[in-house]
Amino acid sequence: LWQYICDEFKTKLSTISYNTWLKAVKPIAFSSQTLIIEVPTALHKDYWKANLSKQVVSLVADSIGQTITVIAKLPDEPNPLTSGLSNNRIQKNTKLADSRPTFMRETKLNEKYTFDTFVIGKGNQMAHAAALVVAEEPGALYNPLFFFGGVGLGKTHLMHAIGHQMLTNNPQAKVKYVTSEAFANDFINSIQTKRQEEFRKEYRSVDLLLVDDIQFFADKEGTQEEFFHTFNALYDDKKQIVLSSDRLPNEIPKLQKRLVSRFKWGLSVDITPPDLETRIAILRNKADADDLDIPDDTLSYIAGQIDSNIRELEGALVRVQAYSSMTHLPISTSLAADALKNLKLNGKSNEISISVIQDKVAKYYHISIGDLKGKKRVKNIVIPRQIAMYLARELTDASLPKIGHEFGGKDHTTVIHAHEKISGALNTDSELQREVNDLKSKLKK
Ligand code: ADP
Ligand code: MG
Repeated sequence: LWQYICDEFKTKLSTISYNTWLKAVKPIAFSSQTLIIEVPTALHKDYWKANLSKQVVSLVADSIGQTITVIAKLPDEPNPLTSGLSNNRIQKNTKLADSRPTFMRETKLNEKYTFDTFVIGKGNQMAHAAALVVAEEPGALYNPLFFFGGVGLGKTHLMHAIGHQMLTNNPQAKVKYVTSEAFANDFINSIQTKRQEEFRKEYRSVDLLLVDDIQFFADKEGTQEEFFHTFNALYDDKKQIVLSSDRLPNEIPKLQKRLVSRFKWGLSVDITPPDLETRIAILRNKADADDLDIPDDTLSYIAGQIDSNIRELEGALVRVQAYSSMTHLPISTSLAADALKNLKLNGKSNEISISVIQDKVAKYYHISIGDLKGKKRVKNIVIPRQIAMYLARELTDASLPKIGHEFGGKDHTTVIHAHEKISGALNTDSELQREVNDLKSKLKK
């Protein structure tokens, strides 16, 4: 059915529209006259709801005489056919339910995240090279391999690429990709369902274990303990382990020392934001993959607008694409400028910097910025200082060392301490709650 719909739309729509609205869409399920499709962004979802769903409905009614319903969902939304609301009949029809415990289900690597689609630039060159080495010679050289760096810089992409490459070289290899949260959930579930043996067997029998975003191990004592044993078992068997985090292991609060020290046995490589050239190359690649005709100067323009996060960079391209198909205008620099106008405004106004936090907090408590960043230990300065650090941690993406640095070169443990102190006090101190909320709303304005 989906193929039929696509073929019909291919003749109805322009290539750009087709690529934007149909190519990026995945059919998820069709049962009980309901077609569920997965769309990549909220913008796609709106457009489907407002336009395309109706067209599909009438197309299907005309051609096969069935009245169907079309529902578009985002990747992280549950499938309405299989989530709680549905009845048993529907669940049986869709055959999606896998009765094995979650930790035993097949690993799904994103097929787009391969070495082929990864653009190499200065900021990720070393990470890319290390990833390739590990994929070619797992367990031999860099074990564990640890990627660290900011959001949207390609850590997850590289981890999947390693998995794909290893499976290409050896289709029998057992590859497991999980986020640290999935690992934690699997572990907890295995305890609750008394399947710990199976859990261990599953995790300790792989040839390659990829654990993404391990900063979320912080605060999870039991999970860390289990992971420690998983790590040791794999390491002793010379199986490859690849980890990622938004910061270095020793900067992850509440990560056990013995884990930190093990993570340092192998190689840690950071990924830094791409330079302009790399950003243009990434956009060029993406445009070509999507068969989009975009002039070079327009790509440079888009690459110039978004400079730190590749996910946002890709989002900007999708936005320009969508804007062009909605307005029926070809993609040009001025069209891109129009399409990205609001995006930029949003980005900027939501961004809260540490210096703005310091400024607001200092004014709020009538103390000087110098004192706020200084070393004085009197209460009417210490508390605002801790509040400012707390807010910096809560409202910005800055790492602990970075925050410490911005507060007159303090150690990251001071920042952790301040954050814990204030979070703790917020549970009981209603006066503090009011002040912190007040500050937050001032900062978000
Ligand atoms: P992270 O895990 O570091 O937050 P991701 O790996 O999820 O980042 O990357 C965000 C998006 O940017 C993904 O769609 C990914 O494919 C893309 N991306 C990141 N780096 C590159 C690159 N060097 N070349 C091509 N695409 C990239
Ligand atoms: Mg990631």
